[in-house]
Amino acid sequence: MKVTTSICPECHDTVEAVIFEEQGKMLIEKTCHVHGTYRDIYWGDIPSYYRFDKYLQNGSGVAGNTNRNNGGCPQDCGICKEHKTSTILANIDITNRCNQQCPICFANANVSGYLYEPTMEQIRDMMAGLKNQKPVMCHAIQFSGGEPTMRNDLFQLIRMGKEMGFKHVQLATNGKKLAESVEYCSNLLESGLKTVYLQFDGITPEPYIATRGFNALPDKLKAIQNCREAGMPIDLVPTVVKGINDHQLGDMIRFVASNIDIIKGLNIQPVSFAGRIDDVQRNRQRITIPDVMKQIEDQTDGMITADDFYPVPFILPLSHLADAMSDINNVQFSVNPHCGSGAYIYVDEKNNLIPVTHFVDVEGLFEHIEELAVEVKAAHHLKTYFRWKGIRKLSKGIKQHVDTSKVPDGIDFAKMFLNLLVDRSGNSTKVFHRKMMLVGIMHFQDLYNIDIERIQRCGVHYALPDGRVIPFCTYNSLYRADVEKQFSKSLNLNTIAV
Ligand code: SF4
Ligand code: SF4
Repeated sequence: MKVTTSICPECHDTVEAVIFEEQGKMLIEKTCHVHGTYRDIYWGDIPSYYRFDKYLQNGSGVAGNTNRNNGGCPQDCGICKEHKTSTILANIDITNRCNQQCPICFANANVSGYLYEPTMEQIRDMMAGLKNQKPVMCHAIQFSGGEPTMRNDLFQLIRMGKEMGFKHVQLATNGKKLAESVEYCSNLLESGLKTVYLQFDGITPEPYIATRGFNALPDKLKAIQNCREAGMPIDLVPTVVKGINDHQLGDMIRFVASNIDIIKGLNIQPVSFAGRIDDVQRNRQRITIPDVMKQIEDQTDGMITADDFYPVPFILPLSHLADAMSDINNVQFSVNPHCGSGAYIYVDEKNNLIPVTHFVDVEGLFEHIEELAVEVKAAHHLKTYFRWKGIRKLSKGIKQHVDTSKVPDGIDFAKMFLNLLVDRSGNSTKVFHRKMMLVGIMHFQDLYNIDIERIQRCGVHYALPDGRVIPFCTYNSLYRADVEKQFSKSLNLNTIAV
């Protein structure tokens, strides 16, 4: 049993919570002295809860922050000294307008009745704040909404992000605008966009009708084709709801495999519930990370197993080694292990799915990388000599942990992986991802399952017009409505262009 802190879904007061085992699952329970007791599934499987738990670590937070947190986390949130991870990916909501009216959406001007649309100058200031973060600079931003393609100055915003030095600029979109023309997708690419994060809930019309209120699949397929013709890389992003589209997880992975030339990953988001929801519906639709991993195992006939997935902080040794070998502080993927997991899958010529874990002893390899990081750091005063020595040792270590008899034909995995780690040109990243798919799962929290241990290590943040930076799950659970109202413009609903 673990004691933590959570939020009352009714009054949003901070309350004590416990995470405990029951009937094969980990549950979270909390009691508000006014509104009673709430119980939810925290993690749908006990062994993998503990397998992941051992990777819990702190990263660097954000220094020189606003030092709010007067009411204790997560009240009065806005990166404070308690926070344990820097901004790995910053969301900038550039509008709450949308060209769809999905019933499940929490960020739509048509529903909220006000227009949130920061000016170009405000967005520039938000980006400047992110670039100035210390000790780790934020390198990645995502334009989100609403539907960011509703803004006519989107290309300028992307260009501005690139000019200000962000290495990675991505766009979260429903794809409707991208489905209209190849030219639009080409303009995105030319402006400097790295990835289209395309909302994609399944490979048949039914999930869209259930969650979006209409069949959006034709738009998705057209958007993918247009991106292909423009050369604009895509990640697909399904929101997974039990009973709605969880039976299509295997099909979605196969869909990515057969479009690996342009789709590089599947980022699965188990549903988080916006606002209040009754127990019956919540229990019917709740799905957690281990449930998704198990469904993937079942629906790929064991080609990909639940054990092929590792939690996000598993890759922390890469940050430690990068820190040791350079003079800068690198991004540390220290988010809570129960927030997200991932598996790298090689797609061979016949579209077979081969998890990297089938030919790499990943645990042995990452232990080796951690040991090397400690060694290089200790000898850092000998800088250049040890950098090269470190690379030689890294190369040897990678080779030791790759089983060449099992590596798919036609790839030199050890070389590809070494280049990915030591060559910062970006070309090695492209080569690595040519036939490699990342299946990621991130379970955003809601008012029912929110856990302070998770939000304090959050690395996905929102930048706000007043300079605050707020972790994603606190923002969407507790702050979005107030922030948007505070910075909204007056709105005549009849004038919204949808
Ligand atoms: S979530 Fe992080 S930034 Fe927000 S109050 Fe808690 S520790 Fe501070
Ligand atoms: S966005 Fe939510 S689920 Fe993702 S790392 Fe942050 S707290 Fe965890």
